[in-house]
Amino acid sequence: MSKVYLGLGTNLGNKADNIAGAIRNIEELIGDVVRQSALYGTKPWGFESDNDFVNAVVCVETRLSPHEVLAMTQQIERSMGRTEKSENGIYHDRIIDIDILLYDEQHINEPTLMVPHPLMMERDFVVEPLSEIADMEKVRKIIG
Ligand code: AMP
Repeated sequence: MSKVYLGLGTNLGNKADNIAGAIRNIEELIGDVVRQSALYGTKPWGFESDNDFVNAVVCVETRLSPHEVLAMTQQIERSMGRTEKSENGIYHDRIIDIDILLYDEQHINEPTLMVPHPLMMERDFVVEPLSEIADMEKVRKIIG
């Protein structure tokens, strides 16, 4: 069994419902959610929008490989109605965004899958909820 940390974000519609819906889908398709942070209200990062975000981080126990987890998070994003992908660093409003932050102690460096997520420690909306449910000293060691 592996431990994967997922970052969740939403800035459209009923945001608390969107996070809850994503977590239900994660339980069904990826594995047991063993820890869950509080919901954090944050300002858009990397783009201008009037719609603030709600973010959370969850820890999931999974039998899936990192690539299988990515396929599932993308399926969940699509099934929840997300159509726009960020392109060339341009971000959009979104119903749900799911990022793979950490997968055990693995390092993956492919264009379509970078783990640990390269920007995670620069984003307060990741670091704050992650600190609630993970040992940040261990996280920093994994990141190196
Ligand atoms: P975004 O539109 O911001 O959700 O970016 C999604 C794209 O980032 C997808 O094409 C993924 O293949 C790629 N990607 C690379 N590393 C990760 C990661 N750790 N978690 C989620 N998506 C990733």
